[in-house]
Amino acid sequence: MSLFLFLLNLPFTLTGVVPVILSGPYSFKLNKNPIALIFKVKSFWWAFGYFRYARAMTVGHIILMGPKELKNDLEHEIIHVKQCERYPVIFPLLYLYELLTKGVRQNRFEKEAYTLSKSVYRPIKQS
Ligand SMILES: [Zn+2]
Repeated sequence: MSLFLFLLNLPFTLTGVVPVILSGPYSFKLNKNPIALIFKVKSFWWAFGYFRYARAMTVGHIILMGPKELKNDLEHEIIHVKQCERYPVIFPLLYLYELLTKGVRQNRFEKEAYTLSKSVYRPIKQS
C-alpha cells in the first residue's frame, strides 16, 4: 500500500529534485514507513517568501533538512509525507488552498504537523 501511494505521488515528488539540487545535498537516508527520501542540505539560499523561514521542507515524499534543524523537525516533515499519502495526488492543491486562506501556522496541515511532532514554530530568517 505504501509503495502504491508513493507511485501515485511520484510526479509531485519528482518536482522536489529541483530544490534538493539547489540546496546542496550532502547526505541521504531512506525512510521506509512512510517511504521518504531524506536529504540533508547545506542552505535554502534560493528560498523566498515564507520559505525563507523554513528549517526543513517536504515535497511529496522528498524531505529536505536544512542546517538549522531543531528538535522534532524531521518528525514534523514525516507528518507532511503521511498527509501526502492520505490525499494522494491532490495534497499539493489542498495544502496551497489552506496556505492561501489560513496562512502558514493556522492551516490544518501545519497545525497537525506541529501538534503531533511537538516541533517548534519559530519564524526567523535562516540565512
Ligand atoms: Zn510544516
